[in-house]
Amino acid sequence: MHTTALPYRIGEPDVECRYPVIIGADQVIGKAFRWHRDWLVDTSEGEHNLRRPPKGTKGIDMAAAYLAEEYAAGRVKAVPLDQVLAEAPKQLYGPVPLLHPRMPATARNIAGAHVAFAGLADHRWRAVHSGFPGSDNAWFLLCELCGWSGVRYWSHHRGRNGNPPSAYRHDGGCIGEEKVRELITAYQQ
Ligand SMILES: [Zn+2]
Repeated sequence: MHTTALPYRIGEPDVECRYPVIIGADQVIGKAFRWHRDWLVDTSEGEHNLRRPPKGTKGIDMAAAYLAEEYAAGRVKAVPLDQVLAEAPKQLYGPVPLLHPRMPATARNIAGAHVAFAGLADHRWRAVHSGFPGSDNAWFLLCELCGWSGVRYWSHHRGRNGNPPSAYRHDGGCIGEEKVRELITAYQQ
């Protein structure tokens, strides 16, 4: 297994599914996030696309190593984690746009978004920050059954071969698979 000795850690993602990369006790040297196959970083100097990670390397590790190098070279500034959290975009509970701002409004994307939103409603999930970002892309969702929220992927939620998705909704247990099956009609057909 590839290991790295760089002294950073990855914090909890914000509602935009961006992971803070932290050095020392609490210094954030940038945020890393995925957009489809690319990994990007957001730093004191703005946004930078690192493209796809090399085979066998996790994108988040590639992004964090890049940030650590940039920081060591004095090219990006660190910000205390408290400040990053205070300035983070807040979780919203109102309606969100159909498409993520980075998603082009093509007929295919619009159709995919309608399918995804209908599926979220059927399965009691809510997009609380952004519109549909694509099937295999990180999407910050709220579980309406228990109030959990976090990063999900629509491709994991749509089920396969006409079957509903797993009743195991997310880490932490939710309300239990039996109750999930009781509350969601897709499991009763
Ligand atoms: Zn839940």
